[in-house]
Amino acid sequence: MSAKGRVLGALGRLVLREGRVAQVIDLAPRLCRVVVTGDDLRGAVWVPGDKAQIVLPDRSVRTYTPCSWDAGAGATSFLVFVHGDAPGAAWGRTVRPGDPVRFLGPQRSLRAEGPCVVVGDETAFGLAEALDAFGVFEVSDHAAAAAFVREGRGVVVPRGDLSAVADQVAAAAAGRALVLAGRASSIQGLRPLLAARGVPWPKQVKAYWADGKRGLD
Ligand SMILES: Cc1cc2nc3c(=O)[nH]c(=O)nc-3n(C[C@H](O)[C@H](O)[C@H](O)COP(=O)(O)OP(=O)(O)OC[C@H]3O[C@@H](n4cnc5c(N)ncnc54)[C@H](O)[C@@H]3O)c2cc1C
Repeated sequence: MSAKGRVLGALGRLVLREGRVAQVIDLAPRLCRVVVTGDDLRGAVWVPGDKAQIVLPDRSVRTYTPCSWDAGAGATSFLVFVHGDAPGAAWGRTVRPGDPVRFLGPQRSLRAEGPCVVVGDETAFGLAEALDAFGVFEVSDHAAAAAFVREGRGVVVPRGDLSAVADQVAAAAAGRALVLAGRASSIQGLRPLLAARGVPWPKQVKAYWADGKRGLD
């Protein structure tokens, strides 16, 4: 349990929304869509790109991106990438319909108006869906990418080939705003590569996770 989880757990319904898992859709062995519904979700003001900080069953807090939000019906969904055994990944692997889900949010994170390109990894699929963006995804899990990245809606580059990512971004960026998310070291590595291709560094940048760090947000 994290300190943040303890505080949020103690404040409970004063600050947290609570819903229940209505559906878990396995899109690939390590990617699932978790649909959450509940009266607490009604009337929320959600802007695409917002985040939710979910208090997990062990009271760790991890951040995910609502892909959509139906404030009338009280429903949202998350695309959860399962990367290992850490609390967020374990939740994605074990979450079942009927489970309670308590979270802070929606809260402001990244914003984009008009057509945009999301650059990231599997953790940015939800962001790309929320922003209805073209995606340039540097991935380690090709099954997850095949399940999410529709033809014409994005391109996939194997993890580690940042020059190829930068080439794809340079090709896709004309007339579109750039939004960078995902692995911290990739974001860092892209800076000189994009500069070398004449692509200005965007304002909307957020590391979603970093090697060796836990619950980065
Ligand atoms: C604003 C925001 C929005 C986000 N939205 C989403 C989303 O919609 N869907 C989603 O799946 N994730 C999303 N993330 C990323 C997610 O919060 C992190 O991946 C988080 O670390 C997962 O928690 P964990 O308990 O599984 O791992 P942690 O305990 O936080 O990390 C343990 C270790 O696992 C490794 N690690 C963490 N994440 C990954 C990964 N994705 N791939 C490989 N190794 C990893 C790191 O080395 C880390 O040290 C978002 C993060 C932020 C900040």
